[in-house]
Amino acid sequence: MSGVDLHLHSNASDGRLSPSDLVKKAAGVGLHVIALADHDTVNGVQEALDTARQFESLQVIPCVEISTDIEGGEVHILGYFIDYKNPDLKTKLAEFRDSREGRAEKMVSKLAGLGLKLEWERVKQIAGDGSIGRPHIAQALLEKGYIPSLREAFSWYIGQDGPAFVERQKMTPVEAVTMVLKASGLPVMAHPFTVNDPEAVVAELAPAGLVGIEAYYTNSSAEQINKLLRLANKHKLIVTGGSDYHGLDDGTDTPLGTIDVPMSAAENLIALARERKLVCDR
Ligand code: AMP
Ligand code: ZN
Ligand code: FE
Ligand code: FE
Repeated sequence: MSGVDLHLHSNASDGRLSPSDLVKKAAGVGLHVIALADHDTVNGVQEALDTARQFESLQVIPCVEISTDIEGGEVHILGYFIDYKNPDLKTKLAEFRDSREGRAEKMVSKLAGLGLKLEWERVKQIAGDGSIGRPHIAQALLEKGYIPSLREAFSWYIGQDGPAFVERQKMTPVEAVTMVLKASGLPVMAHPFTVNDPEAVVAELAPAGLVGIEAYYTNSSAEQINKLLRLANKHKLIVTGGSDYHGLDDGTDTPLGTIDVPMSAAENLIALARERKLVCDR
């Protein structure tokens, strides 16, 4: 294990662990650099940074993961070293989270139409203070015994082509890149192979200020990684990587620290943050 995992979720969005427990777990498995990248929220960052002070050998990078849409797919933009106290950023993210709530409620209605009755209050309870998302609905479906494991929530009902799927508020990848840059963050394209043509997306985002792509990711093949390394090289981008750990069941999730992300990925990101005089050491 290289000691680097730059893509983790906490219960500030749809992860299971609190930011503090996540940081403790990361330290426990011997990680040295991690990033907390919750969906559409930076609310867990302060707690993660505070906890990290207990562990001399662990650095936590503030991050956020913003979901955006293109024709036929989703592009997720990570924002490393984001100024998590930036008021404009916080307002914008709060708007997204509000729209997530209405959207989740619609999915619950659609599920009811399919005969799968969930209590909306229970779904909200599962999400707690976190940015509400499909994994919370999946958890509610599991509790009711409608599905054998979390995975089937997506393959049967709320995956992108599923009968109970509802889209989020629309945003373009370029808008997300711009939003990250405005909040003093480093925009990186997450898991590029979730779209059909990552090259076209990167070609559009690089001129808009994208600084990196996530080349080392759950289930990436050597061939995919090599393709992304070449793409990064072509556009002079940093490569990053992470597990996208959510703290869910093992069948659905990749354990944190289990993706081989080279230390140079973290070093390059940190060096660029220093070069741009972003606030690095908090
Ligand atoms: P949302 O942001 O509400 O659209 O939900 C997206 C999240 O759902 C992702 O970050 C994953 O945590 C989870 N997810 C999406 N698709 C799947 C899938 N096929 N299997 C398991 N989890 C998934
Ligand atoms: Zn998630
Ligand atoms: Fe993602
Ligand atoms: Fe993620």
